[in-house]
Amino acid sequence: MTPQMPAWLDPSPWLDGRVATPADVERALTCDEPGPRELAALLSPAAHPFMEVMAQSARALTRRHFGRTISMYAPLYLANYCTNGCAYCGFASDRVQPRCRLELPEVEEELATLKEMGFEEVLLLTGERTSHAGFDYLLECVSLAAQRFHAVGVEVFPMTTREYALLAEAGCSGVTIYQETYDPRRYDRLHRWGPKKDYLDRLDAPARAMEAGMRTVGLGVLLGLSDPAFDAVCLLRHAAHLRRDHWKSGITLSFPRLRPQAGNFAATFPVDEAWLARLVFAVRIVLPDVPLLLSTRERPEFRDGMAGLGISKMSAGSRTSVGGYGVAEPATEGQFEVGDKRSVPDVCAMLRSRGLEPVFKNWDSVFRGGEACGHG
Ligand code: SF4
Repeated sequence: MTPQMPAWLDPSPWLDGRVATPADVERALTCDEPGPRELAALLSPAAHPFMEVMAQSARALTRRHFGRTISMYAPLYLANYCTNGCAYCGFASDRVQPRCRLELPEVEEELATLKEMGFEEVLLLTGERTSHAGFDYLLECVSLAAQRFHAVGVEVFPMTTREYALLAEAGCSGVTIYQETYDPRRYDRLHRWGPKKDYLDRLDAPARAMEAGMRTVGLGVLLGLSDPAFDAVCLLRHAAHLRRDHWKSGITLSFPRLRPQAGNFAATFPVDEAWLARLVFAVRIVLPDVPLLLSTRERPEFRDGMAGLGISKMSAGSRTSVGGYGVAEPATEGQFEVGDKRSVPDVCAMLRSRGLEPVFKNWDSVFRGGEACGHG
């Protein structure tokens, strides 16, 4: 049965078939409190001629709220076991590839490598909750990471409020959970089996994480799965809903695009770089103070151009396979192909050449409640 979209999320009042005009776009660009209507106008065909104005506006807003800094983080894949059938993912349970998890000494090694690379913020990733990589395993990994890193986030499976609270106690400060697409029909078709098929449970997970005291929650959609304008307006609605009810926590937004992966799923709604750039500009204009992330999925030239132009946080030197930072050849394939394979020093040099400063630490573990990490 197709899941029902809750009324608070429904974007149809702003995507009602009415064609936005250049006047709507101009209004959106000068509006004091832009919202879903303005976002829809900025993403409409009428906004094509306004790309340069939007880029300048996005740059000015990013500079006002984030200065010339770009926060840096690194993903760390802990395990690639998964029971879900996400049609677009190289880790889906029907993809034939070696499965493994990092044992705790290996997690420590990978963390040490990331530390040597200069990172102070790490994002731990797994597939769906399994007996190989379930909550207890994740809790241990978070504790290990929190001893070394000032900011620890997880991008894993949806949890209960109680579980999120236990993770927060262990030192986790951020939860990233993408809805992938907000279109219930597409969601149902793309998530062929497994617990992730539960659209509403996933939709509610960020609220549970915030309720449990997480400092930040990361939202996003996987661009290419569904109508990107529809998903963008829903993303804004979701963020607004969470901000209203959980104002003590922060939101971050990411813009992952489908990348080649095992299974060769092709994007049904391909999003090119020009469209992605416009999306980032438009979101920056309607959410001027929210950190916007761009990962190494994108190619170097595009990332270089977007740094500071809406984007305020980036990963670098990323590996998307389990054990990818170790010296030995990783035993698994990556979740997706990395587009920007440059080293951390190369990405930092690029940022500095553009007058931007990479920032590795903008949060101190001492704020976790007196329990400072070993590198304080
Ligand atoms: S997207 Fe996540 S949940 Fe879906 S198959 Fe891949 S690893 Fe599993």
